[in-house]
Amino acid sequence: MIPPRKSRTIRIRDLELGGGAPIAVQSMAATRTQDVAATSRQIRILEAAGADLIRIAVDSRADVEALAELRAGTRARLSVDLQESYRLAELVAPHVDKIRYNPGHLHHHEKEKSTRDKVAWIVEQAARHGCALRIGINAGSIAPEYDARYPDDHVSAIVACAIEHCALVDALGFRDYVVSIKDSDPRLVVDANVRFAAERPDVPIHLGVTEAGMPPEGIIKTRIAFEQLLARGIGDTLRVSLTLPFDDKGREIEVGRELIRDVEAGRFRSVPPNFFDGLNIIACPSCSRVENEKFIELAADVRRMTEYAQQHRLTIAVMGCRVNGPGETDDADLGLWCGPSHVNLKRGTTELGAFKYDEILPRLQRELDALIAARETTLPR
Ligand code: SF4
Repeated sequence: MIPPRKSRTIRIRDLELGGGAPIAVQSMAATRTQDVAATSRQIRILEAAGADLIRIAVDSRADVEALAELRAGTRARLSVDLQESYRLAELVAPHVDKIRYNPGHLHHHEKEKSTRDKVAWIVEQAARHGCALRIGINAGSIAPEYDARYPDDHVSAIVACAIEHCALVDALGFRDYVVSIKDSDPRLVVDANVRFAAERPDVPIHLGVTEAGMPPEGIIKTRIAFEQLLARGIGDTLRVSLTLPFDDKGREIEVGRELIRDVEAGRFRSVPPNFFDGLNIIACPSCSRVENEKFIELAADVRRMTEYAQQHRLTIAVMGCRVNGPGETDDADLGLWCGPSHVNLKRGTTELGAFKYDEILPRLQRELDALIAARETTLPR
């Protein structure tokens, strides 16, 4: 049931990706990179589950040192996520097989330098060390120039960004790259990837629904997007992004493989009717930036506590860190993001303060009740 893919084949070390190669399944370490023991354990768990590629986030020189140790301890194919720190590309490239940069983060440093020059520099580091690249676009961090060009149209902004970054990399003569265009809304993921694939059928695509949250809802959201895309021959590698206890991260790989098998066999899971009409909890999958291991527990507690509000069309976002938390919760009705000892809470764009881990749930419930009551009194009778 998966039509032949039109993308070209690229190489990530010994892994062929795109074209007629099998769809690769990958994941990411959810632990702090500098906790080498915990991150090595993540790598072993993901490898044992059959991951083709394992991504690790790097934010600092101390992370790069940890990465070198991790590299020495494994033969797994490693990819690195540069987050905002693209200038670390030079230091990470000797240790990894693939580098991901986010066009939406390039403006944070060296403001006097052009985007083209920054991309050229990253490509140079990758080429020197035989690394592949991912141009990883996220609707939660759109590059400001595209936001300005398409202020009310996220999909056009992210698709244009992807196409133009491909042109930049092509002009540099570099071909071993993939593109990802992700969002937490599976419908937007489908729309953006279909549009991109129509423009650049030759470029291998990495599929992902970001911050899909906990199973089973996180799996349903992912299936909604991946089933539609894979069945159209779109998607050469994928990551199922789930909020799970660190030791259960291998499940992301199992779910990804099962999903591919099902689409190949023409088995499509039915989506519960009104799936998008009720309470939507989005939660990040955790990464090196996670502030507190209680994050996973917190996400599960939020889901349990909010069960009574299932039928209300509201979004609650639960994020693991203070760096991305404030931005990634912007579109939610209620947003929480973790700090080392406190959880920050936001209603819409209004910050309500930071609360201890054992105080946050009652406070969240108060806010949720107030939102529901406000909506009910303003509903037309
Ligand atoms: S919100 Fe923070 S901890 Fe969660 S995945 Fe994103 S960067 Fe990592």
